[in-house]
Amino acid sequence: MVDDSLNRTGASLLIDALQANGINNLYGVVGIPITDLARLAELKGMKYYGFRREDSAVDAAAAAGFLTKKPGVAMTVSAPGFLNGLTALAQATKNCFPLIMISGSSERHIIDLSQGDYEGLDQYNTAKPFCKKAYRIDRAQDVGIAVARAIRTAVSGRPGGVYLDLPADTIAQLNNDLGEKNMGVYRLVDPAPLQQPSDEAINRAVDIIKQAKKPLIILGKGAAYDRTEKQVQELINQTDIPFLPMSMAKGVVPDDDKHSASAARSLSLKGADVVILIGARLNWMLSYGNAPQFNPDAKFIQLDIDATQFDSAQKISAPLQGDLTSTLNKLVPALTATGYKTPSDWLDAIAQDTAKNDAKFAKRIKAGETNPKFGYYGAIEPINDYFQEHPDTYLVSEGANTLDIGRDMIGMKLPRHRLDTGTWGVMGVGMGYAIATAIETDKHVVALDGDSAFGFDGMDVETMCRYNLPITVVVINNGGIYNGVENVVPNQLGPTTLDPTARYDLIAKAFGGDNYYVTNYQEMKDTFTTAVESGRPNIINVQIDPSMGKESGHIGNLNPTLNLKPLEEAEKEKSEKE
Ligand code: ADP
Ligand code: MG
Repeated sequence: MVDDSLNRTGASLLIDALQANGINNLYGVVGIPITDLARLAELKGMKYYGFRREDSAVDAAAAAGFLTKKPGVAMTVSAPGFLNGLTALAQATKNCFPLIMISGSSERHIIDLSQGDYEGLDQYNTAKPFCKKAYRIDRAQDVGIAVARAIRTAVSGRPGGVYLDLPADTIAQLNNDLGEKNMGVYRLVDPAPLQQPSDEAINRAVDIIKQAKKPLIILGKGAAYDRTEKQVQELINQTDIPFLPMSMAKGVVPDDDKHSASAARSLSLKGADVVILIGARLNWMLSYGNAPQFNPDAKFIQLDIDATQFDSAQKISAPLQGDLTSTLNKLVPALTATGYKTPSDWLDAIAQDTAKNDAKFAKRIKAGETNPKFGYYGAIEPINDYFQEHPDTYLVSEGANTLDIGRDMIGMKLPRHRLDTGTWGVMGVGMGYAIATAIETDKHVVALDGDSAFGFDGMDVETMCRYNLPITVVVINNGGIYNGVENVVPNQLGPTTLDPTARYDLIAKAFGGDNYYVTNYQEMKDTFTTAVESGRPNIINVQIDPSMGKESGHIGNLNPTLNLKPLEEAEKEKSEKE
């Protein structure tokens, strides 16, 4: 399709190297110096998806990495574009999503003498602390090996983000050195080699589980990423060990499986004497494994590809280093050979607590249908109803209360069908994740967003509409960060206040998508299915009451409070004292 000298440019070799490794989608925002690179990618048969801001594009590539188990690839321009993408690069690395961010850059000699190039920045060194590894391609002849290193680094061991620095010179430089050797471009052999724990390590774990009176499995997004559903389900079915899924592990075992301890989360964490972590970290989301959330005498078994994760916060009594699939392929038969079954009194205690909590929850949901103050429960119930009937729909979610209540309410039946704010709890991932999910899966996608979260990347609604993607963005609008009514200074817009009358749905209309506006449960119920099944890009503005929504959602404990009093009250108290 392109002539021979073009074929020898760094740009062309880069595209060949990606394609040779089965990477056919590129996400990005073009400009100097990568515009022709993106065009050439299209000419050579890749699909290029252009965004409105780099963080959305890089988030999209990260989501593609999570969904496909191959690195997603994003491209940005130099300094400001690179810096906009950097948050998403850091976040992908924290989330263990394989990603390659490629940014156009300046030549080394200009940067090193600080000569003041157009958008000049030492991007290579700036990126280093925010990714697994940064590489820089100074010569066209090195492109093949650079891409190989980037791919291997992104997917092997603990997956993560890689930065590839691409000086403008390298893009246009000709490689005439390698001739027939396919110009140094090749397909990697075994990019993420399997790793097995030793028999000794397996036996150590089996010996501990065998003795467990109250075992518990915690599934993390590593289990989803590594496609362990078959092995995990067998483990659970053979031993009856109850499980708790972290949010992105929902669906590895269906949420409605009888072994789910989700509705008895506190009781099962507090009671468990043996905790088996499968692709989950004992970080802030699991209270670092500490009491009182966990039993102080619990023994931990951890399955992870990264040995440095063990003992991060608790003593790990049986570390199992390896990829999860290989590890489970050894562990499950070894454990079932012992005939181990979870003691029934532990299962009964969980079942009782589950029944109690389920009844409470069902009551709350029912009340949400008719509550004159329309809130989260009434808004989200129809979404859950839809997902129970159509489990092969994808869900992306962000926000505070929207995220937390949606996570509890929406049951997932299939693995890797839920993407959310992840390890850092970042807002502004919704549009990038939803767009990539629609592209990579060809399925309907629901992006469930709080009004504040949606504001971070709302302009990428234009991207969703431009590519005519089957995405329904649900904006739960309570006019504020957390909520829209919490003000301390009278007659002044407070820090958490947003516009409760904002018509987010009209943004879709502006770009040729469809818009819906609902103000109560019945309208949401009537609208949601139509919106999703239209297969068109659309936004539903769900107008809930501005007083709905707790400060910081379910993690208010992380937000230092200063015992603030509304100004009038404080002045009254002061004058009373005088
Ligand atoms: P969650 O937030 O869902 O609890 P985390 O992101 O904290 O999950 O943990 C995921 C863990 O899974 C990380 O420690 C990561 O090293 C591990 N992991 C990711 N991919 C694999 C894999 N293929 N095999 C084994 N472990 C993996
Ligand atoms: Mg809000």
